[in-house]
Formats: sequence, C-alpha cells, structure tokens
Amino acid sequence: MPANPLCPGDMIEAHCSRCCMETYHTLITLVNDNPARVICNTCDHEHSYRTSSSVLDASLGKVSIRKTDSRRSSLSPQEKEKREWRALRPIMECDSASTYSSSREFRLHSLIKHPDFGLGVVKKSVPPHKMKVLFEDGIKTLRCG
Ligand SMILES: [Zn+2]
Repeated sequence: MPANPLCPGDMIEAHCSRCCMETYHTLITLVNDNPARVICNTCDHEHSYRTSSSVLDASLGKVSIRKTDSRRSSLSPQEKEKREWRALRPIMECDSASTYSSSREFRLHSLIKHPDFGLGVVKKSVPPHKMKVLFEDGIKTLRCG
C-alpha cells in the first residue's frame, strides 16, 4: 500500500533555517512526489524543503573540516603543555612528590601532588607567593608559601 501522496497545501514537518528548529510547514511545490518548496507556519519564511537530518549532515561536515584545519595549524599552548606533561610523566616518581599546600614553599622542578590536578612539576616561581605548575591539564598558577 503506497502512502498517501503529498499535495501542495499539505502540512509537513521540516527544518526552518529562520526558526532554527523543526516546525510545521505548508507544502507549496513538489518535485517527483518529494517536497520542494515549503512555507514555515511559524515565521512565514518560504524556503526549499530540508529535513533536520540533512541539516545535521551539513553541520557535521563543517565540524570535520574545522578539525582538519586545527590539526594542520600549530598546537594551542594548552595542547603543548599537555604534551610536555605526558613526555615528563614517565620520569615523575609519585613517591617523591610533595603534597601541595598553599602555605609551603616548593623548589623549581620539584614534583607536586595536588588533590584536584594530580601530579605536577613546578615550572616557574611567580614572586611573592605564586608558582606555575605543569599538570596533566596544562599549566596552573598556584599559591605557595
Ligand atoms: Zn520558521
């Protein structure tokens, strides 16, 4: 049993680019029994028929293009920091790490165990009471004694 063929004037659901959502549309023209042009019942915008899945495909395509671009361009500072941490990880000895406390002083290049950020290395002291520490998530500025 074939489904009832669509006719101009029928109500169909379609993606409206102006409403940015699925809305009911009135069908205006058909091409080979497929909806061609529709009018949005919400905003009266006339446009060619699109389903949300085709819109999704289009946006997915854009996302993958953007990903390729970022891979080609140089790494973000945070990504570089993460890579540096991963490179250092094998030589970090958990046992020699000092537990972080904002009232303690830490020497340059010493290992720190932080309750939230995990294992880190002191990269730079920022006088008078701060230091930059490289963690798995990148460099964080912490208070120190
Ligand atoms: Zn609309």
